[in-house]
Amino acid sequence: MRHIDLPLSNCRLNKVGCAGVISVIKSEPVAFGGKQGGTAKHSLVPIWDEGCFFLFYKEGLILIKVTLKDGTVREAEQGIMILDFVKAFSNSLAKKVLSAKVDGKIMDLTTKIEKDCKMQFLTLEDADGLWTLRHTASHILAQAVKRLYKDYNVQLAIGPAIDNGFYYDFDINKQLTDEDLKKIEKEMEKIVKENSKLERSEVSREAALKMFEEKGEKYKVELINDLPKDEKITLYTQGDFVDLCAGPHVLSTGKVKALKLQSIAGAYWRGSEKNKMLQRIYGTAFGKKEDLDAYLTMMEEAAKRDHRKLGKELDLFSLHEEGPGFPFFHPKGMVIRNELINYWREVHREFGYQEISTPMILNRKLWEQSGHWDHYKENMYFTKIDDEDYAIKPMNCPGGMIVYKTQQHSYRDLPLRMGELGLVHRHELSGALHGLMRVRNFTQDDAHIFMMPSQIEEEIQKVIDLFDRVYKTFGLEYHAELSTRPENSMGEDDIWENATNALQNALDNRGLKYIINEGDGAFYGPKIDFHLKDSIGRTWQCGTIQLDMLLPEKFDLTYVGEDGKKHRPVMIHRVVYGSIERFIGILIENYAGAFPTWLAPVQIEILPITEKHTDYAYALKNKMFALGLRVEVDDRNEKVGYKIRESQMKKVPYTLVVGDKEMEVNEASVRKYGEKDSINMNVDLFIKEVQEKISKKI
Ligand SMILES: [Zn+2]
Ligand SMILES: [Zn+2]
Repeated sequence: MRHIDLPLSNCRLNKVGCAGVISVIKSEPVAFGGKQGGTAKHSLVPIWDEGCFFLFYKEGLILIKVTLKDGTVREAEQGIMILDFVKAFSNSLAKKVLSAKVDGKIMDLTTKIEKDCKMQFLTLEDADGLWTLRHTASHILAQAVKRLYKDYNVQLAIGPAIDNGFYYDFDINKQLTDEDLKKIEKEMEKIVKENSKLERSEVSREAALKMFEEKGEKYKVELINDLPKDEKITLYTQGDFVDLCAGPHVLSTGKVKALKLQSIAGAYWRGSEKNKMLQRIYGTAFGKKEDLDAYLTMMEEAAKRDHRKLGKELDLFSLHEEGPGFPFFHPKGMVIRNELINYWREVHREFGYQEISTPMILNRKLWEQSGHWDHYKENMYFTKIDDEDYAIKPMNCPGGMIVYKTQQHSYRDLPLRMGELGLVHRHELSGALHGLMRVRNFTQDDAHIFMMPSQIEEEIQKVIDLFDRVYKTFGLEYHAELSTRPENSMGEDDIWENATNALQNALDNRGLKYIINEGDGAFYGPKIDFHLKDSIGRTWQCGTIQLDMLLPEKFDLTYVGEDGKKHRPVMIHRVVYGSIERFIGILIENYAGAFPTWLAPVQIEILPITEKHTDYAYALKNKMFALGLRVEVDDRNEKVGYKIRESQMKKVPYTLVVGDKEMEVNEASVRKYGEKDSINMNVDLFIKEVQEKISKKI
């Protein structure tokens, strides 16, 4: 921050005839917020003249430095509104910007900036920009419901933006229907057209309580009462509607150019079954109609691929109320699971990993030592053995630490890579459970790597290579996200810097696409997340490489260095699939259930045309089975056309029809999944082709 106090000799004020105003000549424009003349404290006049920028002011002007995302630094008047700051760049940019990230926090464009800061403009291209837009859409939804259902005692609960959209929870004396959704959507469109400004105001706790009590909004009253004593209470007003909200929002309702209400669901107040069931309306919003249309088309496609639906149709897995969130794998699902595990073992063996297995139930003392007891308890399950407290592991790490400590390690052993397919249990709220995507027990394809600090970069590169190999096998594109040091982190500055640089260098060296999430790392180390893109354009976060400087400390891990002294290793936790259960869910949707041959639960289905071809069909099956292929015969007394259609429904990669002609010459009529025509092939050549596909993992 700096004051400008220029001698009056620099003054050009006579030229504009503005008494008491002096000018500053700068080579770059300065953003300004005041008006010409008037009584504003900093009365500013910008004038471009001969490539110079003149700034006139009455009193001492304070400039602050704003560092933009690309690293350039711009000066601005202290107290400038973000919107005016953006306008100083260009008006067309100002139209696009929805909100701004200031020192990591998303802010309204009407926020005034008072000190030097880092700023990123958020547009529709940014997830955070879209988030602001969608959050505003949730207010529009609440406003519309309030307007339409005056006679139904509408009380508002909460209305956040979520991935891909937003929702609002209502307590309302009416069962909402799809008809209502249409009506509400129309009213929302009206509110968008009204283009009301969203005005933020700070109020005292008393004033806020009084206001919401008068309105009869008991949920808002409860929310206010639960806020910490020193928390600022803010309201957002748009036209005739006010909501309790911390923001941020877009400037006006008119920015929400395209919206769609999608569904109604029941949701307990605060997610607890002890509370009242409210009605939740889900919707989505975009800044452009085309984006909404593209999204809706994708959602239709996604619904067709829903892994819960396909999982049932293909008989892969099931979920039961006897174990909510605990999936049951059926024989066919187990085939996929085992293929994934076999492949995992094959790749990890090649990359120099060893495999361990650690117990699922471990003593409380261990969880206290690891910090889980204090920081992760609400996600854990517990049990007692011989009157002592035990916990069911939510993570594999503490077990891995114990295994490391069973031996004295030398620097020559490092990096030491210990993989573990560990079944972990985590408590998730029942409302959050979703097929295989969100479960309460899952198998992490974990590994802990222990190394010297000097080995970080090279080792991370090896992990990236391994991830690349695995994701490419499934035809999944990906990008990485690097999360750097947060505030309140542990550890020395230079260790953090080295570690973060090592991660970044590794990404650069591999030429990977990545984005940086400043300050988003864990307090014990930076991390890289891998986001996979599926065949319909959705992204899924799967792999993680997490550097950890804390656990080696907590468990007093050491290795003997070249100097004969004990040193502290650095460790990483990493998963490639993430959760095997969830990865199967992603694959089902990615392939729409039509698995590549190497993964398909049934690879070949043989259909005898009549009973007299059945023996030949079984002879073929036995031959293929002996070679390790997954093959079935459909010898039901049905028409072959019908059986072919069923085989296609089951998405079997190869359907073989055998009749007289085929029997005579050791052939089969081969039809590949999704193709209309079949071709006659020599059985041995066919087997060879299938084996080759499997060995290439296609
Ligand atoms: Zn809000
Ligand atoms: Zn771990």
